[in-house]
Amino acid sequence: MSRRLSIHITIWSCLSLMLLGACRAVPVAQERNPAPEDTTPIATADASAADRPDELAAIKEGIQATLDRYTEAHRTNDVTIIERLMAPSNRALSRKMVVEFEDTMMIFGSDYAFAHTVQDVTPRDHGFMQAHIRTETGSAADWLFREVDGEWLFAEPGEDLLGARAVSEYEHFTLYHYAWSHVAEEHIVAIVEEARAMAGERLGRLPDAPLDVHIRPVTGLPRLTDGGRGKGIYQPSYSEAVSDYIAISAPYSFGFGFYDPDLGWGDTLQHLITHEYAHFVTHRAFVSTDDMAPWMFEGLAEYVADAYYDDVLRDVADQDLFIPIIDTENRFSMQDLEHMHQGLQDENGVDYALAYSLVVYITETYGGLEGFWELVETYTPRRDFDAALQEVFGVQYETFEQDWQTWVINRYGS
Ligand SMILES: [Zn+2]
Repeated sequence: MSRRLSIHITIWSCLSLMLLGACRAVPVAQERNPAPEDTTPIATADASAADRPDELAAIKEGIQATLDRYTEAHRTNDVTIIERLMAPSNRALSRKMVVEFEDTMMIFGSDYAFAHTVQDVTPRDHGFMQAHIRTETGSAADWLFREVDGEWLFAEPGEDLLGARAVSEYEHFTLYHYAWSHVAEEHIVAIVEEARAMAGERLGRLPDAPLDVHIRPVTGLPRLTDGGRGKGIYQPSYSEAVSDYIAISAPYSFGFGFYDPDLGWGDTLQHLITHEYAHFVTHRAFVSTDDMAPWMFEGLAEYVADAYYDDVLRDVADQDLFIPIIDTENRFSMQDLEHMHQGLQDENGVDYALAYSLVVYITETYGGLEGFWELVETYTPRRDFDAALQEVFGVQYETFEQDWQTWVINRYGS
């Protein structure tokens, strides 16, 4: 797999929640976590266009023109093009797209100027058109558009157009789900239960605390506090009156991002939910995520979700894209994995992969997850990683970092 493809696959892991102190989940999933088939058909009240092939062909052309300008914006690093591609009254989506664009440009520059091609279009309610899109690197996405003055622009329905919001109580969680998302509820329930089973199996504990699971069909939803900027989020509650929640961007939304069309979106959805569920288990059954370094709980969540990072870590090994765990050179604006949520200058989209590799390295080298938890618990009170390493593993930071990097190079390098 080329560097270009690796960039594409990892990009969504490094964007969007830098300002939020929350976490995003990562796609990239290959032949694991088999989810039910994505067989839910998209029903639509407006089937009229489907009866007129010429009209659909013209719509497809219109959406393609918008996608070409979207790619052009990336090629020329011109955010004003992105702003002009947004339908009016889509402030949350517009903000999200601009932030993602700016992050992408900062991290990858014009390396990210991939062509996007419309494969087919499906009419949705209220004049929206859903386009199935493939990128030149082979990823798929399903995005919504709306016609404004003869142009097909990026758009999402407001909450008033999303249809009924179902609230369903299950044994282990409460599910909040809009009719708009057109994903069968039993499909989501099966995925959340699978996530719970994976977390229980890998971590050995499951909390009794209540959990709300929100499936978010559009970027802006008033009840959720993170603005929809990430694909997924875990939000611990600090009040007895409300539950912890995880919110996941629904398939067929811009926020869901890209997936591998050979696997369907079910595999990506499984990964997203398992990642966030792992945060919930970590926070409620082990150590508060507030007391852990970001690489510890992000790496652990990817470990629980059985992430596939072989290609990214091969690039890291071959091209020396390592990020230090602790930046020993800068006192301020530290460029290291302890500050990965704040946005790093040269992360190359590999921060989550490195966090994952650290957790695997520690479990394999220092006595499994027991060793990992002992390190975390020793680190937590003083947040002195070097001291914790010496106390728990009898190794100094410089040696530990060198040994970890050598391990990554030996295991994943070409
Ligand atoms: Zn996370």
